[in-house]
Formats: sequence, structure tokens, C-alpha cells
Amino acid sequence: MAGVGKPLQGQNVLVTGASRGIGAAVVRQLAREGAVPIIQYGRDQAAAEQLLEEVGAGVTLQADLSDPMGATRLWEQARSKAGRIHALVNNAGIRTEVSIEAGLQAWQSTWQKEFRVNLFAPADLCREAILHFSEHGGGKIVNLASRAGQRGYAAEAMAYGATKAALNNLTKSIARNFGDKGIFAVAIAPGWVFTDMAKGYIARFGKQAAVADIPIGEMALPEEIAEVIAFVLRSSQHSLNGATLDMNGGSYIR
Ligand code: NAP
Repeated sequence: MAGVGKPLQGQNVLVTGASRGIGAAVVRQLAREGAVPIIQYGRDQAAAEQLLEEVGAGVTLQADLSDPMGATRLWEQARSKAGRIHALVNNAGIRTEVSIEAGLQAWQSTWQKEFRVNLFAPADLCREAILHFSEHGGGKIVNLASRAGQRGYAAEAMAYGATKAALNNLTKSIARNFGDKGIFAVAIAPGWVFTDMAKGYIARFGKQAAVADIPIGEMALPEEIAEVIAFVLRSSQHSLNGATLDMNGGSYIR
């Protein structure tokens, strides 16, 4: 039987933004550790299906998380495919730049979309997960926050930093309020991670601009983040509830 004897055996895990980057690495790691991934993608169906073929078990689901009903529909589809869901990894995210000189329309539309994808969709999924976990004996939520939400962020991407600070706070509120129902929430706060999101920044400003204030001189790899998320989802881990796990090479130490 698939996953027997592995740490995440028997867990169905919904991973958003899993067609590439951190989300795809999370899916690979979870599958290696015995979980069955529910692989959400936005636009890249081919990448999601190729990933499913690679890991051998699970399902792919399309959802546009910039649509106000996208997250709720995704949860319903995931429930109808998997039945019981044991964990949610809110990983999908966007990082959009808009300067304060850009004009009000561009400013407002960037802030609205950033909050829709990075906070409101994860919040809707958290709500669904809490309701489901309350009825079925518990479950875990992992939210991909960011160092940007902890220390403040670049002038041209302040909306991104604000969404991540709010997501971090939501994670803490879930941990404080629903632990007695067996519901556990953790935020992961990486600095730069070497994915398309970082590559876009490097293409414009150069790698040195990204790593200059990282003491280890390197971005994290998606696989490092994935290993930690898989560890958090082990059934042996309870007391991490409410933690924000910093993964930033020493560039923000609390
Ligand atoms: P990425 O490589 O840019 O991938 C983003 C993922 O999100 C893709 O799978 C994409 O799906 C999905 N997505 C984006 N917009 C969507 C939408 N409207 N509806 C549905 N899905 C959507 O990102 P990443 O670097 O792996 O980042 C993953 C998470 O970690 C994000 O929350 C990010 O903020 C956070 N993070 C990243 C870094 C970093 O340096 N990379 C640092 C700290 C935190 P499709 O491609 O299929 O559309």
C-alpha cells in the first residue's frame, strides 16, 4: 500500500500554487513521505499534470484564487475528490510591484489583487479547513508568509509585505482559538527563495541586490522549505502550533 511506514502516510493534503516553485517542491516532499497531494494550479495545467504523473498519486485541481469564489470552489472540489482532508498548505501567492508614483488606479488595483490572492483566498480556505477539521477530529494549516511581512518591505512592493504580515497574524489567531479542536496552524516566513518569483527580481536588479543582506549569501531552495513543511505536518508535531518559522539565512533574526 502506498505510503505505508512513512511519516505522512494516510494524509490528504491540499497544496495551493503547486504547479511550480515552492508548492511543487512541497508536493514532491509530501509524496515522498507518504501523503496524497491535492495539487492546485492557476494557469499551468500541463505542469500540474506532469507533477502528478511524477509523484504517482493524488489529484490536480484548477482554481483562480483572484476570483472571490475561487478558494471556496477549490475547497468543495478538493472535498469531493478526497473526502477527508488532513492538512492545508496555503502556498499560492503573487508579488506585484507598484510605485507610489504609479497613479491611484494602478495603486488600488495592485493592492486589491494582492490582498485577494495572498490573504482573502487563504483566509477563505482557512475558514473551510477549520469547519472541516472541527467536524473530523482536527487538522493542520501551513501558511506561506514571508520575511517581508515581518520586517517591512521594498517601496515598490509594500502591498506584498502587508498581505504577508496579515497572513502571519491570521495564522496566530487560528492557533490561539482552535487548538482545543485539534486544529494547528503554523506560518513559514522565508526570505528570498530561488523560484520564478525571485528570478523575476534577479532579472531586473541582479542576484547581489537580493542576497546582499543575507549572511549566508544565498537564497533558500524550494526543497529546504518543503522539508520543513513536511516535518510540520508529521503527526508527532503538536507544540509548533502558532509558530512562525523563519527561513531567511539570518537576514531577519528576532
Ligand atoms: P511562484 O514560483 O511564483 O509560483 C506561484 C504559484 O502560485 C504558482 O503555482 C501559480 O499557479 C500560483 N498562483 C499565482 N496566482 C494565482 C491565482 N490567481 N490563482 C491560482 N493560483 C495562483 O511562487 P513561489 O516563489 O513558489 O512562492 C510560493 C509562496 O511562497 C508564495 O505565497 C510567496 O509569496 C511565498 N514566498 C516566496 C518567496 C520567494 O522568494 N520565492 C519568499 C517568501 C515567501 P500557476 O502558475 O499555475 O498560475
